[in-house]
Amino acid sequence: MSKTIIVSNRLPVSITEENNETVVKQSVGGLATGMKAFHGNKTDSLWIGWPGINTTDVKQKDKISKYLKKEQCVPVFLEQELFDNYYSGFSNRTIWPLFHYFTEYTQFDETFWSSFTEVNKRFSEAVIAHAGGDDVVWIHDYQLMLLPTMLREHFPDMRIGFFLHIPFPSFEILRILPWREQIVEGILGADLVGFHTYDYARHFISCVRRLLGYEVEFNRIKVGKRNVVTDVFPMSIDFDTFHDTAIQIQSKPIQERSKEHQDLDRFLLASPDRKLILSIDRLDYTKGIPNRLQAYERFLLDNPAYLEKVALILLVVPSRDSVDQYMHLKSEIEELVGRINGEFGTLNWNPVIYFYRSLPFENLIELYSSSDIALLTPLRDGMNLVAKEFIASHVNLRGTLILSEMAGASKELGEAIMVNPNNIEQVSRAIKDALEMPLDAQMSALDAMRKRIKRYDVHKWADDFVSSLNRYHEQQKNLIAKKIKDKTARHIAKEYTSAKSRILFLDYDGTLVGFQALPQNAYPGKDLYYLLDKISGQQNTELVLISGRDKETFNRWFEDKSYTLIAEHGAWKRSDDGVWESRVSTNSDWKKIIYPVLESFVDRTPGSHIEEKNYSLAWHYRSADIELGAIRALELRTDVAGLIMNNNLEILEGNKVIEIKVSGINKGVAALEHLKNRHSGFVMAIGDDWTDEYMFRELPPSAVTIKVGQDNSHASYFLDNVNEVIDFLKILAE
Ligand code: UDP
Repeated sequence: MSKTIIVSNRLPVSITEENNETVVKQSVGGLATGMKAFHGNKTDSLWIGWPGINTTDVKQKDKISKYLKKEQCVPVFLEQELFDNYYSGFSNRTIWPLFHYFTEYTQFDETFWSSFTEVNKRFSEAVIAHAGGDDVVWIHDYQLMLLPTMLREHFPDMRIGFFLHIPFPSFEILRILPWREQIVEGILGADLVGFHTYDYARHFISCVRRLLGYEVEFNRIKVGKRNVVTDVFPMSIDFDTFHDTAIQIQSKPIQERSKEHQDLDRFLLASPDRKLILSIDRLDYTKGIPNRLQAYERFLLDNPAYLEKVALILLVVPSRDSVDQYMHLKSEIEELVGRINGEFGTLNWNPVIYFYRSLPFENLIELYSSSDIALLTPLRDGMNLVAKEFIASHVNLRGTLILSEMAGASKELGEAIMVNPNNIEQVSRAIKDALEMPLDAQMSALDAMRKRIKRYDVHKWADDFVSSLNRYHEQQKNLIAKKIKDKTARHIAKEYTSAKSRILFLDYDGTLVGFQALPQNAYPGKDLYYLLDKISGQQNTELVLISGRDKETFNRWFEDKSYTLIAEHGAWKRSDDGVWESRVSTNSDWKKIIYPVLESFVDRTPGSHIEEKNYSLAWHYRSADIELGAIRALELRTDVAGLIMNNNLEILEGNKVIEIKVSGINKGVAALEHLKNRHSGFVMAIGDDWTDEYMFRELPPSAVTIKVGQDNSHASYFLDNVNEVIDFLKILAE
């Protein structure tokens, strides 16, 4: 039976050593909490990760491994120095700051990088030791970005998914990294790459295009023979647990609640209408805690009527305190808290109640449910689960969320008061607005967000990811089944040889020759002439070159050949008597209208050019910037839509070319017309772009239709590239 293997830096439980005793603790953080439910639900699930302790003692390792086995976990043990360079080094001093746009904190260090590579290799060895080719492997987060490709090299057909829990930065940021190509290439070993938001997915695709030059169609990236799909899965929380615990806590008598909560209650009793503003984060410079304190200070300054009427509960959870920036941040926060409390505090009132610790789950919910406002203003945050937890725990639907637009969660929680965390004035105003928000507005905003979080909870998130991974993998398998390999090639060759007569429709560019920056340079070479001559010289065999090319070029290249030539998508045909006949009217007034439009695109898109043919105008953008070209192509389609309708024209989008031509001409119509009154036992068509799809669709079902490349197609088979087409034609020529 196949199993699901979760791979992440940390396991759901962490082993630590306290007073010479081995202590097991639940790991904290969104990933561990979220995936724990997914892992725990299944008996066929295995979790591979670092156990939280570095030891070289064989006995201790053995003991830990045995313990973890009961939890269906496998530890990856690392040596202390290797771990430090990989985790505190490359992961947290290079990738973390860079991916959160803190370039000034990003360190580039060869040792960090080699340790990161080595640890990813160790993880791959651990997975290989426990996985079968049938298993699903789901890899998590930025510490393991090289792992997908390492595993893919070992398991070419395995279902591998990767999810990034932090932002993926724009190309302008990623390009700074000396190892940027390796990182992107490393992730692309997966079948499915998941992100929290569309922006992160968009940045990833842009980096793939710019750094590696791979073809991308919507969210599908072509990596050699594989398709890698990117998709958006905003991570969520275990809604029911937060919600149900909040209800239980509310029904508890006050004496049974936690000490922190009793303190809070005493504080509230002193002034019952005092409002609580809650701020919870790990200690991290990405969370914008100093900015938040400054905004709160500004609020107190600008709104003296609220003095003693509000309090900010600032919970900072210790994290990465061995990294310098985190130590400095802690001092900065403590100074600000001291300053605000000193400036505004009274005998009975501290404007900021500061905790530097982590709280047990129940106490956390107590805090969530008893505060009136959550003030969450990260400068950059992959998701921010605290925002969702606050909403799920607010069972009475009274309360307001102030959320940074830089948090991934802002994309889903549109009813929150949205702020730019750098705009101190705006955040200060948001606090006032939240305090004064009418109850019905609070309730309707919270209710809308609550319903959304309940519907797409962490279980749905995980199931959604895994079922998408299975679906994409299945599509890939079907595609592979259509691939012409030796056996199929021999079978087609047999049909070809035994047929009494044959017609072959062959597209030219992208099928018989590769693309060149300038179309005139894609002329046929000696070998191609030899091959085509050989095929067309076979008895009862007609070779038809069918292309979007203009007839003059085709005539120049194939003047003395006996092949049938169909040019300009079927507007012209030259039969074996050498005479070209036109299939459409020669009125070309429409060109006067379209040409200037295309010229304006050439002016604004460096590297693009216009090709004029008898019945069409083509705008080529192969040599333009990849992304700009794609955007302009979309713009062009929109701009000419009206002109096309009014002038009885048609638009064809080929491989990096947009062609506008007289309507009613396409390769399908031309091929069918050519077949009329001919009795051919064997019909075959090969082509690479969607202008060839007309042929694949129109030809009779008995025809052998072959697509070059792995896009969705009506063809019954596919080959990967021009070289494979040539090799296949050589088999027929023999
Ligand atoms: N959290 C916790 N103990 C605490 C405070 C917070 O376990 O004392 C949890 C909180 O419930 C949330 C996670 O830490 O699930 C923080 O996740 P978030 O996405 O907000 O930020 P991250 O730490 O992943 O950057």
